Formats: sequence, C-alpha cells, structure tokens
Amino acid sequence: MALSTKPRVVIIGCGIVGAAIAYELGRGERFDVTVLERQPKAPAIASGAIATYRTGTPGALGMLMGAISQKIQGRAWELREASLRRYHTLIPELESLTGTKIAHNEHGLLKLCGPGDDLAQWEKLAMQRKDQGWPLEILGTDAIAGTYPQVSMGALGGVAFGIHSPKDWQVQPISLLTALVSGARHHGVKFSFGTTVTALDPQGGGIRVELADAEKGAAPLAPIGADWIVVAAGLGSSAIAATVDASPVQLQPVLGQAARLQLERPMAMREPAITGDDVHVVPLGGGSYWVGATVEFVEFNEKDATTAPIPDPDRWQTVLEAAIALCPDLASATMGQIWSGLRPRPVGQPAPVIQPLASCDRVWLATGHYRNGVLLAPATAEAIATALRQAAFA
Ligand SMILES: Cc1cc2nc3c(=O)[nH]c(=O)nc-3n(C[C@H](O)[C@H](O)[C@H](O)COP(=O)(O)OP(=O)(O)OC[C@H]3O[C@@H](n4cnc5c(N)ncnc54)[C@H](O)[C@@H]3O)c2cc1C
Repeated sequence: MALSTKPRVVIIGCGIVGAAIAYELGRGERFDVTVLERQPKAPAIASGAIATYRTGTPGALGMLMGAISQKIQGRAWELREASLRRYHTLIPELESLTGTKIAHNEHGLLKLCGPGDDLAQWEKLAMQRKDQGWPLEILGTDAIAGTYPQVSMGALGGVAFGIHSPKDWQVQPISLLTALVSGARHHGVKFSFGTTVTALDPQGGGIRVELADAEKGAAPLAPIGADWIVVAAGLGSSAIAATVDASPVQLQPVLGQAARLQLERPMAMREPAITGDDVHVVPLGGGSYWVGATVEFVEFNEKDATTAPIPDPDRWQTVLEAAIALCPDLASATMGQIWSGLRPRPVGQPAPVIQPLASCDRVWLATGHYRNGVLLAPATAEAIATALRQAAFA
C-alpha cells in the first residue's frame, strides 16, 4: 500500500470539539487525519440511574444559545454566528451523508425574563440581531401565556417578558457526535479509541506522539508521527500541552448536573427549549425532557483516575425546583437518569482557547469551551481547518 503523502494531522480527543474538527478537516480530503481518544469508544450516554462523566460532551444539553446571547461583536459573536450558520447546513449534510437522523429541535429557544430584566436592552439587541439576520421576537405576557401554556407566568417572581429566538436550536450532543464520527470516517479519517496520548515531542519539522493503551494498564504503545497536532482533549488538554510548553493553558473543571424527566405526554403542542434564570428545560419529544444544569466549581485532579468530582445534591434540587417553577407540569414527571459532566473553563483567558502553543506552532489548542462547546464546535472546526490549510498549503 502506498504511503499517504498528505500532511498528517493528529487530533487528540473525540468529544464534540475533536469530532467536529475531524469532520471538517476530513471533508476537504487534503490531510491524513487520525483521531486519538482514550475512552474505549466514542462517548455515549451511560446506562443506570446515575452517571458521572469526567468529560463534557455526554453531559451536555445541546442548547445553541447564539443569537439569544448578549454578545454582539468581536470574537465571541463571530464564533457564535459562524457556528449557527454552519449548524443550519451541517445537520442536513451529515444526515444525508450518514443516512441517520440527528436528534435536534428546530422550534428555537424561549428565554423567560423576570421583573429585574432590562426590556430596553433586549429590544436594542433584537434590533441589532435583525440587522445581522438573526431575528429575535420579544413577547409580552399575553403572547407567552397564549402560545406557551407550559410556562407558569408566576415563575421568576412574575414573568415580565420573553424572547423567542427561532434560529437558535437545540441538538442532542451524542447524536451529533456519532454522526460527525461516521461522516469523518466516510472521508477517510481514522479513529483509534482506547488510546491515551501521554506526551508530544517536537522533532525537526514534525511531532512525535507518545501513546499508551488506555485499556491495558496504560502500557506504552509505539509512538506515531504527525505534521500537526490539534489538542481537543477538554480538561486533559493542559497535561498534554505541558509536555511541550512550559506555561500551557490552565483549565478549571466546572461540574454540571442534569437529568431526564418523563411525563405521560408532552406539555404543549409548541415546544421550544425553554430557559429562565440559567435553568434549561429541553423537550426531547414524547413527553421526555432534559432539565439542567448546575454550575459547580469543583476541586478535582484530572490526572488521577481514582478520584471523582462530587456533585452537590442541594444544587441539583435547586435547579429541579426552578425548572418546575418554570413549567409546573414537570412536578408530576417520573425522574429518569441524573448525570454530571465536567466543563473545561479556561483560567485567565476567555473561552474558548483556539490558538497554537507559544513554543510550537505545529501544536494547536482547541479547548476550554466551558459552557458552549456544543454551540461553538462547528466554528472551532472551521477556525482550525482554515489555520491548518493556510499553514500547510499557502
Ligand atoms: C451538564 C452540562 C450541560 C451542558 N450544556 C451545554 C449546552 O447546552 N450547550 C453547549 O454548547 N455546551 C454545553 N455544555 C458544555 C459542553 O459539554 C462542553 O463545552 C463540551 O462538551 C466540551 O467539549 P470538548 O470536546 O472540548 O471536551 P470533552 O467532551 O471533555 O472531550 C474531550 C475528550 O478528550 C479525551 N481525552 C482527554 N485527555 C486525553 C488524552 N491524553 N489522550 C486521548 N484522549 C484524551 C477525553 O476522553 C474526552 O473524550 C454542557 C456541559 C455540561 C456538563
């Protein structure tokens, strides 16, 4: 078999960010792309009443809060807008390529605001978004009560107004991740699960990637070579970068708890994802809902596999009660699985971190997406693909 002459890219991590980059880089078929992931297979929803994830993607609710965010310019908005645009083409493209449905909700997001929220500020944002091509509909109390009977107007100390964002969607992260892996494979991307990257070693014009078998007691595996590395390893990114860079990015774990609730039937005909006071109610169809999420700053050593971050049951109870206050029908729901996951939050710089290492411009970081990794995965993938194409082919 002839050896590939394409530039070799190794992506470390197959969460939503690594998988999106793999798909985007694979799509052009100009690179020889390999994804290395220490878990035995692509992240999946664990079975059982309680699940604890040491990564972000399997825990995420998949809210794409782009147009409805208060970011209006600069990098924060540009990434959001690029992602939203790409989502509207990516989902049909992947569905057609892989022949599978990607579970997502196109009814938009409904944000509920209380008496303390600034209506004038939201009206100003709606004007700006209109100019940007992302409509936001400001709703008065009558419109909310008439259109969305699942909402309690007594929530938030009295719902004062709402904002419906029809172009912000919600996507089920594992469904999307599975399609991205399958789509990337279709374009020749190779995946190696159960493989931990232990170190990077820049040598001459390339990088030597040191590996261990995650399933066989971390036994060393034969190293591989790459021309470029993309570190998309979530909270594991710092340790990998530290093998090359003296002062790598610092990431803090922020735990989030969420759960699935089941009703006998859907709460209403029209079911956007609902958010109020930072609590989300995500309809999944058939009377199923995800509710979340807590924001808990935890002490946790990512490198020590024997330690686990501890979710706070009181914080979860507060979120559950807030969700029931927003949508009172949820009080009679059967409680399904509850889970927690860890969000990678950058310390000392804004999220996300998309940049080369200071000491080696062949190693790119694509990490630190904190609360918006699902939202920003497509824009991150485009940014990395653009940078590597320029570096390799310009
Ligand atoms: C409860 C909860 C709700 C959330 N809701 C939303 C939401 O509504 N919308 C949104 O946009 N975001 C949401 N998020 C945030 C989102 O989940 C994260 O930002 C996102 O998952 C980060 O993705 P990632 O691919 O960078 O990291 P991860 O998903 O953590 O993936 C990193 C991967 O790298 C692998 N890895 C690590 N180290 C190594 C190594 N040395 N070698 C090989 N592989 C390695 C890990 O096993 C892992 O699979 C939520 C998070 C939580 C916990």
